Amino acid sequence: MKTIYLDNNATTQISPEVLREMIPFLSDYYGNPSSMHTFGGRLHKKIEEAREMVASLIGALPEEIIFTSCGTESDNTAIMSAVESSPRKRHVITTKVEHPAVLNFCRHLSRKGYRVTYLPVNNLGQLDMDVLVKSLDEDTAVVSVMYANNETGVVFPIREITEILRERGILFHTDAVQVAGKIPIDIKTLPVDMLSLSGHKLHAPKGVGALFVRKGTRFSPYIIGGHQENGRRGGTENVASIIALGKACQLALENIREENRNLSSLRDKLENALLKCCPDVRVNGDAENRLPNTTNLSFEYIEGEAILLRLNEYGICASSGSACTSGSLEPSHVLRAMGVPYTAVHGSIRFSLSRYTTDEEINKVIEVMPPIIKELRQLSPFGREKLSCPSS
Ligand code: PLP
Repeated sequence: MKTIYLDNNATTQISPEVLREMIPFLSDYYGNPSSMHTFGGRLHKKIEEAREMVASLIGALPEEIIFTSCGTESDNTAIMSAVESSPRKRHVITTKVEHPAVLNFCRHLSRKGYRVTYLPVNNLGQLDMDVLVKSLDEDTAVVSVMYANNETGVVFPIREITEILRERGILFHTDAVQVAGKIPIDIKTLPVDMLSLSGHKLHAPKGVGALFVRKGTRFSPYIIGGHQENGRRGGTENVASIIALGKACQLALENIREENRNLSSLRDKLENALLKCCPDVRVNGDAENRLPNTTNLSFEYIEGEAILLRLNEYGICASSGSACTSGSLEPSHVLRAMGVPYTAVHGSIRFSLSRYTTDEEINKVIEVMPPIIKELRQLSPFGREKLSCPSS
């Protein structure tokens, strides 16, 4: 059975061009880029070429890119650097809907005595800018707000935030892990101070990421060791994966506008068909300001896990915002922060497409979903009463 992979916000397939580019650096060219000899030393040049490609994707300068091991490391580094660079400031602002890479790092900071404000979102997953403005004070070291949400795809008003923070001289970090390669980013006209991205979300391998740090921004390394990355991130470089990330960024940049159009048209086709064919379905999040590849739908009165299991029988991969299958014990903190009713959180499914998603695959999902939903609603031992949580 052919896999229909619609879980690309979780991770993506390494593109064949990227794989081809990286393989020689896992086999033949295994040197250390810091070595004096040519065998290792020439890898340094390859890393610098990759840095240029990553920088080009977001309109940055190569020296503004630091290679990391993942999006999580980029996020942790950015926030830690910001608080360490302003030791007198003890306040951090983020949102309630961040990825755990930011959310749990902020919780860690609060255990260390920092004050953290978690900005709320409304029922469309949009940020209340007035609350952001009111939360800023003299003590604010950094604001970290994701560019787009991984569960709903909702895109935050990053430009508006930068304008507010610039006036007050407060550092701004954005987690653009889900955005890089999906919608154009131009750091030249978007004055964020730091921005995170991750290889495995844009068809490069897992275990490589990058952090953009604007020239002139005070920076304090998080991983301390050798002189690699200009002393900004210790550790022998993951050469093959860095080269892969460079290639993935180059490909993304070449195709971004066309892919964006294709993705949103396939996503809309899927979403509209499911809304039409299945009763009691809702879209979670602001449908206007969304990543082109993401739809998060709630199928009332059934469990998301049950839908996933049935889809799995057809080789269809998606993910759910409910407990268990999402690998956490809690229902989605994002949907809960949006005030999505308990029954709808539990019946939520995220489909996330990629450049490899085809029309036939979408047709297959449109064909199998309505009978699955109908059958599960008939079979479900959970009536409305059983699924409604008294505390929600
Ligand atoms: N930030 C967002 C928005 C994400 O979606 C993810 C991964 O799902 C991360 C950060 C973490 O990236 P990584 O898996 O590379 O650590």
